[in-house]
Amino acid sequence: MFVQSRAPTKIIMNDEPTKVGDTYVPKELKRETLCLPNLPESEVVRHYTRLASMNFGVDNGPYPLGSCTMKYNPKYADRIASLQKFTDVHPYQDVSTIQGTLEMMYNMERKLAQISGMDAVTLQPAAGAHGEHTAMLMVRAYHESKGETRDEVIVPDSAHGTNPASAAMAGFKVIEIPSAPDGSTDMDALKAAVSSRTAAFMLTNPNTLGIFEKNIKDIAKTVHSAGALLYYDGANLNAIMGITAPGDMGFDIVHFNIHKTFASPHGGGGPGSGPVGVKKKLAPFLPSPIISKVKDGFVLEPGEKHSIGKVRAFYGNINVVLRGYTYILRMGSDGLRNAAIKAVINSNYLKELIKDVYEVPYGDPKKHEFVASASKLKKEKGIKASDIAKRMIDHGIHPPTIYFPMLVDEAMMFEPTEDCSLDDMKRMAEVLKTIAEEDPEIVLNAPYNASVSRVDETKAAKDAITSVRYMNRKA
Ligand SMILES: *Cc1c(COP(=O)(O)O)cnc(C)c1O
Repeated sequence: MFVQSRAPTKIIMNDEPTKVGDTYVPKELKRETLCLPNLPESEVVRHYTRLASMNFGVDNGPYPLGSCTMKYNPKYADRIASLQKFTDVHPYQDVSTIQGTLEMMYNMERKLAQISGMDAVTLQPAAGAHGEHTAMLMVRAYHESKGETRDEVIVPDSAHGTNPASAAMAGFKVIEIPSAPDGSTDMDALKAAVSSRTAAFMLTNPNTLGIFEKNIKDIAKTVHSAGALLYYDGANLNAIMGITAPGDMGFDIVHFNIHKTFASPHGGGGPGSGPVGVKKKLAPFLPSPIISKVKDGFVLEPGEKHSIGKVRAFYGNINVVLRGYTYILRMGSDGLRNAAIKAVINSNYLKELIKDVYEVPYGDPKKHEFVASASKLKKEKGIKASDIAKRMIDHGIHPPTIYFPMLVDEAMMFEPTEDCSLDDMKRMAEVLKTIAEEDPEIVLNAPYNASVSRVDETKAAKDAITSVRYMNRKA
């Protein structure tokens, strides 16, 4: 942990306030000393290097965190995103001086439209959940423009928690429907839930159980004939890109996770980007600004009359978009398609390797991810999914997503992604089998090789130490 080993340097700020300070900063809010630790470079470098080595990332090893698509982020994308011509751009610059950036954004919108089978795209939202919320605002504006009052959004019980949250934040009442015994959408439950009050049905396909919704055409028909819209949670796009598209399945509106599907770091690794794609009928509701191509270049225009307005400052997380764009160009359509095929094969391969030890409910084949259960081990040995996850850390493999989706008891959701090698998967399976056979006492007290062992998760959530100053005050 960070220890302040020297007295802080007292830097006396200039007594002469700047013009900006004069005008905008009240005197009582002005800081007179900067509380910076006074440390030599060597200590700072060692501190951060040590912190970096305590972390586990996609550059350390396989990272099968289901639903998150933690694929390897190729370094060429970082190199392009670090080009000074992009990083030095300021959002207040005149558009005539940022034509290259606008062209990249315009082209990225077209690429994403092509991949998803949509007609128009906005790059504004800063993450998947923000994309969902943006989309739900558009759904609301769409129905309002037709003079219809539709206040319900349907989500399946396998949905990611952000789906109902985004719908609720946009002012909708959330109706949850159960899954069928095979894990797909229960058509009877859907038909019973849709009505003239339904604004949209939010679905991901393949769903969070890794199962492709075979009835998707029927689902689309049911939703559309009630006058509602079909929303695609694009977090699972890695399973289908280049093979099929949400637009072809009947979806009206889609969010992407650039930081999942298109190889930009995420989690603690950096900001995200959650563009939204729509069919033509929803284009008038896209947020502002819109990038348009004119005779001699690109311009930024306010949204149309029905636009939901601004959802984010300036132009979105351009650097993340740029990484994704670089990745898409480098992969090409064949490359993206092959990545999806390989991701699906890997997931099914890993599932076959472990299914005798960890039960995998809900039938085959799986798409890019699958959900196993530690339920049997819990009954027989008292080992839960969370214990297995902790023990995997000792064996050098990042744990899968656990306890999601909630409809599988002791859920362990694996997504090995396309960059997982055959050896990676064999090792992962071996580790999982070893843990199942280990003395439960060993597993229950794991991890032993990590920088921290078991943390009190409730206390951590309720009493987060968010800064060094806060930590020192508490000590
Ligand atoms: C990750 C994810 C989201 C939310 O995306 P963020 O970028 O994390 O906000 C939504 N739905 C599913 C299925 C996801 O996996």
